[in-house]
Amino acid sequence: MKFGGTSVGKPERMREVAKLITKDAESKIVVLSALSGTTNALVEISNSLSQGDRNTAKKQISALELHYKNFCSHLLTSAAALEKAAAITSEHFEFLNIILKISFSEALNKDILAQGELLSTKLFSIYLDEQGIDHMLIPALDFMTIDNYDEPQIGSIKVKLAQILQRNKDKKIFITQGYISRNSKGEVDNLKRGGSDYSASLIAAAIKATVCEIWTDIDGMHNNDPRVVKKTVAIEQLSFEEAAELAYFGAKILHPASIWPAQFYNVPVKLLNTMQPEAKGTLITELAGSVGVKAIAAKDGITAIKIKSSRMLLAYGFLRKIFEVFEKYRTSIDMITTSEVAVSITIDSDIHLAEIVKELEPFGTVEIDANQTIVSIVGNEIAQTEDVMQKLFRSLKNIPVRMVSYGGSHHNISILIDSNHKEQTLQSLNVDLFGLD
Ligand code: ASP
Ligand code: MG
Repeated sequence: MKFGGTSVGKPERMREVAKLITKDAESKIVVLSALSGTTNALVEISNSLSQGDRNTAKKQISALELHYKNFCSHLLTSAAALEKAAAITSEHFEFLNIILKISFSEALNKDILAQGELLSTKLFSIYLDEQGIDHMLIPALDFMTIDNYDEPQIGSIKVKLAQILQRNKDKKIFITQGYISRNSKGEVDNLKRGGSDYSASLIAAAIKATVCEIWTDIDGMHNNDPRVVKKTVAIEQLSFEEAAELAYFGAKILHPASIWPAQFYNVPVKLLNTMQPEAKGTLITELAGSVGVKAIAAKDGITAIKIKSSRMLLAYGFLRKIFEVFEKYRTSIDMITTSEVAVSITIDSDIHLAEIVKELEPFGTVEIDANQTIVSIVGNEIAQTEDVMQKLFRSLKNIPVRMVSYGGSHHNISILIDSNHKEQTLQSLNVDLFGLD
């Protein structure tokens, strides 16, 4: 069971989590994020330090400490628990204050970012103790490891977790941190922002759990972006492939990488709502449940690159040379469309855009469009579903579409539009594909 930042972000929410994990007698590993807002605050502290602005960092640390003191005073009641929590909180904030005096480095940055999950799990554990709920806190840093390429080492995670569980057979509830890990140098590291979902899926896969429950503050994956369109509905069932496409192409509820471990080890994933625990949520398994369009997701911040060259005509090896440029700069490509004389590619990171363009120029004319959005229409066998294309194009008749990608898989049609047209596009598709006005 994984609980996100908002699910533990307020004392009353954290108490609710304690209730949810004790609802049945099954053994479980509970993965917690940092309290909502904490990781962002830690990022800011880190930024201040990296700019050498110690005064600002000090103020930011004090403000965060105050937040935790308030949190503890509302979470706990007994003097013993309050004292324990005060000691833990001081220990972590003392650490942050010591860091103020050390010169900034990337390793230090990772140490700073780890404080949120360390604090949330320790405070939760104190609360469970106060409530007399038997459990054990297991440090993620003892088993969660990533390799040189930042890839989780599932084999080793499996062995280490099995040993921990074997040594503690009498325990039923284990609490651990999401997001944080150790890297190949043994330093504290993390699975990138939003990585607690990934932790949960890796853990569920490693122990071959019966289910991986991701608890958030919305009742599952929705058919469209609830922040953009008025009316959306939760999707009851998705296949791993569909969920991966949706998560990757913008559905914010789930970290995109968190699908593969569950899929590979065939552990069903459930997306559930702490605010409405009885709601069905979304079940993700091998099976798609139904045929047809299931959902739409949008991913912003996309850059389109067009390379136009008459030399591409009837040439072979042209695409390989182009792709090699992206490989060299470790920039992944999302969408591709080709004509006989041009190829269009999208990327979601423009960190190396200038270098990439420079290396592409010898191949032909290079054109860049920034501020693009990929809108992905996801569903089972949509390519074969009657009318989908017709409805889609009818729905898009007033929207300038920059690229269309169809046929790459059985469950995805993607279009690229200018981000200015995103709201209109999502709204229009909501009406035409789902009948939701
Ligand atoms: N606390 C981390 C973040 O805010 C990880 C997570 O919540 O998934 O990114
Ligand atoms: Mg999250």
